[in-house]
Amino acid sequence: MKIFVYSTHRFEKPFLQKAANDNHELIFSAFALEADTAKLANGCKAIIAFTSDDLSADVLDDLYYHGIRFIALRSVGFDHVDLLKAKQLGIKVANVPNYSPYSTAEHAVALLLALNRKLMVGQKLMKRNDFSLDELIGFDMYQKTIGIVGVGKIGGAFAKIMSGFGCRLLGYDPIENKGLALKTGLVYTTLEEVCQQADVVSIHCPLTPETRYMFNKVLFAQMKKGVLLINTARGSIVNTIDLLAALDNKTIAGAGLDVYENEKGIFFRNHLNTIIIDQLFDKLRNNQNVIITGHQAFLTQEALTDIATTTFYNLNQWEKGKSSTNEI
Ligand code: NAD
Repeated sequence: MKIFVYSTHRFEKPFLQKAANDNHELIFSAFALEADTAKLANGCKAIIAFTSDDLSADVLDDLYYHGIRFIALRSVGFDHVDLLKAKQLGIKVANVPNYSPYSTAEHAVALLLALNRKLMVGQKLMKRNDFSLDELIGFDMYQKTIGIVGVGKIGGAFAKIMSGFGCRLLGYDPIENKGLALKTGLVYTTLEEVCQQADVVSIHCPLTPETRYMFNKVLFAQMKKGVLLINTARGSIVNTIDLLAALDNKTIAGAGLDVYENEKGIFFRNHLNTIIIDQLFDKLRNNQNVIITGHQAFLTQEALTDIATTTFYNLNQWEKGKSSTNEI
């Protein structure tokens, strides 16, 4: 099958090529999918899209016009796709529902530990020959209460790691995983209770109309003073203006973020010789109690292998005229 790969990054190309196994004609492009670039896929039957690509109704119309019938998302999240429109057009869409959840869960732990133990501040001081410890006091994770919002695959993997630290676990999820609760001691409760009791809140739910800005000033006001907030899920689950206010008034002592609500157009590329005009992002990244990584939580060898393998499983099924189990 002739397949156009949008938003190709250097890091993922070898993984995709290996999984394609010479069975397909791949056209790799660094261009993101948007209204102006849909035509690039003309003559292809399928595209492979990234989380930063635009799969809104108009773009899907264009893709259909240019012959695209299959869209393989190389991501878990599909909040960037107008699924209803795709269905109306008869374009099949599949995601990668299962890739190493440890990649993202472990990154959440990395953000948490770096934030709590002030690793970034410590590195800066060390480079200035300043070995004083006054600014670097953290707290033991042992016996602290960790609130997990969205206890699915990643939230579950995060829960298991934190139970190894000897933490008390609270979870909020409309669907309870009793096996996990038994194994880790996690107790399910309401979102409000999680936020009132937790020393650390880590977000692992999907972005949906219900979860958009779920973390806002109303919820922040209920949090324990000095809480750490970790978000490796989706930027728009957190209201950034409210987060900055909560950091300013010290309700939230620190935030470890891998995602940002306006990350599209900023993350995943090198802006070395350009100016990023986003005052909100500047406020966030210049806040000394915030650590931000550029949506890299998934970036491990294992996860990239899983993503590429499942992407081509989806495409191979469609090429054989079969359905994929990952269709959405
Ligand atoms: P999952 O589907 O296994 O788990 C999500 C959980 O959230 C489910 O248990 C679901 O019941 C729960 N949930 C749904 N609505 C909720 C709500 N309103 N409140 C609380 N919980 C709710 O998904 P996953 O694989 O664990 O991934 C979770 C999210 O992490 C993805 O949707 C994606 O946005 C994000 N993600 C980010 C990265 C990254 O690189 N930063 C990588 C992978 C996934």
